[in-house]
Amino acid sequence: MDFEPSPNARDRLQQLEAFIERFVLPYNAAWHRCAAEGVPPPFMQDLKDLARAEGLWNLCLPALREDEPGTRLSNLDYAPLAQAMGRLPWSAEVFNCSAPDSGNMELLQQNATPAQREQWLQPLLEGRIRSAFAMSEPDVASSDPTNLQTSVRREGGQLVLNGRKWFITGVAHPQCRLLIVMCRNEGDDAGAAHDSHSMVLVPLDTPGVQVVRNIPIMQHRSPEGHCELLLRDVRVPAANLLGGWGQGFAMAQARLGPGRVHHCMRTIGQCELALELACDRALERRAFGKYLADQSNVQDWIAESRLEIDQARLLVLQAAWSLDQGRPAREIRSQVAAIKVVAARLQTRVADRAMQIFGAMGLSPDTPLAWLWTWGRAMRFLDGPDEVHLRTVAREELARARARQGASAAYFTTPEQLAAPPRIR
Ligand SMILES: Cc1cc2nc3c(=O)[nH]c(=O)nc-3n(C[C@H](O)[C@H](O)[C@H](O)COP(=O)(O)OP(=O)(O)OC[C@H]3O[C@@H](n4cnc5c(N)ncnc54)[C@H](O)[C@@H]3O)c2cc1C
Repeated sequence: MDFEPSPNARDRLQQLEAFIERFVLPYNAAWHRCAAEGVPPPFMQDLKDLARAEGLWNLCLPALREDEPGTRLSNLDYAPLAQAMGRLPWSAEVFNCSAPDSGNMELLQQNATPAQREQWLQPLLEGRIRSAFAMSEPDVASSDPTNLQTSVRREGGQLVLNGRKWFITGVAHPQCRLLIVMCRNEGDDAGAAHDSHSMVLVPLDTPGVQVVRNIPIMQHRSPEGHCELLLRDVRVPAANLLGGWGQGFAMAQARLGPGRVHHCMRTIGQCELALELACDRALERRAFGKYLADQSNVQDWIAESRLEIDQARLLVLQAAWSLDQGRPAREIRSQVAAIKVVAARLQTRVADRAMQIFGAMGLSPDTPLAWLWTWGRAMRFLDGPDEVHLRTVAREELARARARQGASAAYFTTPEQLAAPPRIR
């Protein structure tokens, strides 16, 4: 395994970092003010136009078609770029690389009909609209998607949806136009547990779609929001079915693979930032006659954060590399599940240590640490809670153990072996 970025990726990274420093960072305070006031940042479109003109656009999209705008980096090459974008919570949007759009674009690239591509994929690729992926529901444990209840039935040439969704990221964004809704099939051909759900493309302005509220995440708000939605007799043409009837699960699984890896890459960037801030603060703040950096416990926190970030980075790169090898999703499911858990836990630990070094200021909006901690905490749920991912890892480990059929027992030291060691000659 070679984790060295290609020369192209190195050039792109340099270009991206320079762009962020010159054009994005100066707007950071203004973005946070807009987020707190719940208004869309007025400078976003200009930044997007500039990024696109510089070729810093759709950096994470796979090379499926030549005619689509994008730079088509491998997942491994994309990793350091995602890391750089992760340092600011909002910068991925500038480069059309933010969740949930990147995952949705990939889903559409793989499953949309030509008409659906033209109506939805093209404007998404060009950054003219944004989208949301609506799966979780308030009334059922959504970590088990077989529970999902929002229903879809076929009626003449239409699909009719009813249900309630929540924590749907992106819906409050002023450019959000598309919901990809995971529904339970109604009717005679509903299908068995894992074939009983379908995905439907629903324009956000369809009658019957109601945005109930934008839910703050531990009192943090973002312009794109995490919204609760009510779908009441929502009617769309039958041609809005994405993929096949009953293929919702299979498509959702494929969608979450690269998306999870991208989240984890951004996490590494966020943790690097928290550690940098913690070190700077420790070097300038004095208590009881010495700098915080000279206290051994502070040194331990800094060292532990460095060790954990580097361990996580290696796991993330390994998963990105595996994705690039084109292995089927089921073969790398456990790797992706592992990094999702490792990255989310890492972020809360590293941010927590940094907050402790900062003292009370670490909890204020004057540093990004409180947001970084909160996002790390949210990561332990979004795209599935830790426990579900741990279950995936454990199941694969146990499947390997079953396949070994107890062969490892040869490593026991039994009384019989001690009494009569085998003769070599
Ligand atoms: C910031 C944020 C953004 C989000 N964005 C979206 C989005 O865009 N679209 C969307 O559809 N959803 C989104 N979600 C929702 C997220 O995907 C769900 O919260 C997640 O899947 C868990 O579902 P749940 O909240 O219903 O928890 P539940 O399913 O009720 O689970 C509760 C707890 O039960 C435990 N548990 C569950 N299963 C197991 C198991 N097998 N073994 C052991 N313990 C278990 C876990 O501890 C889990 O935390 C978002 C959530 C957050 C916080």
